[in-house]
Amino acid sequence: SALLAAETHGSATQLADIDPLTGLHNRRRLTADLEASAGRPLVAIMIDIDHFKTFNDTNGHAAGDEALRRVSAILADNVRPGDVAYRYGGEEFCVLLADTLIDEAATVAERVRAAVEAVDIPGGENQPAGRVTISVGVADSLAGTHDGVIEVADAALYQAKHGGRNRVISSSP
Ligand code: GH3
Ligand code: MG
Ligand code: MG
Repeated sequence: SALLAAETHGSATQLADIDPLTGLHNRRRLTADLEASAGRPLVAIMIDIDHFKTFNDTNGHAAGDEALRRVSAILADNVRPGDVAYRYGGEEFCVLLADTLIDEAATVAERVRAAVEAVDIPGGENQPAGRVTISVGVADSLAGTHDGVIEVADAALYQAKHGGRNRVISSSP
């Protein structure tokens, strides 16, 4: 994991880029990576856990933290080598995929969505769907800037929520 790598190499700078709860890269690192990849094509996947306030209210905050760790591990296991997963904040995650077509990224996103739905996460049985589920938005940078790609992926995620949750929406026409 990113956390293990940072601890092994012992660099404070690396640790500052890691989310301590999940071991994923954090939003600070996402900002830096977006800047570093300026000018190169990029796809972003934005992920938000469905009804997570309900999850905390029903199962407690500690169970919520454990669910965040489980979803993070599924995310890390289901992206490809070279794809980087981040905790964007709260119960929201992001994956950046370089040299990837948006349709390939949508396939990765669908694999992650299906994997989360398939795994038994303690407390998930109390969720509205009877499972922990995620909604996902996918966008590429072809039409604009790298700041824009996050916004467009977020808009697709919003559509996934309003379309009924537990689904992937890609912004490709
Ligand atoms: P939606 O399906 O529309 O996404 O609904 P939601 O309930 O997931 O959305 P909302 O943004 O209302 O709730 C997010 C919840 O995530 C609220 C907050 O308590 C919880 N949360 C954010 N960060 C953490 C965390 O670090 N640990 C735990 N346990 N809960 C967290
Ligand atoms: Mg949210
Ligand atoms: Mg949510």
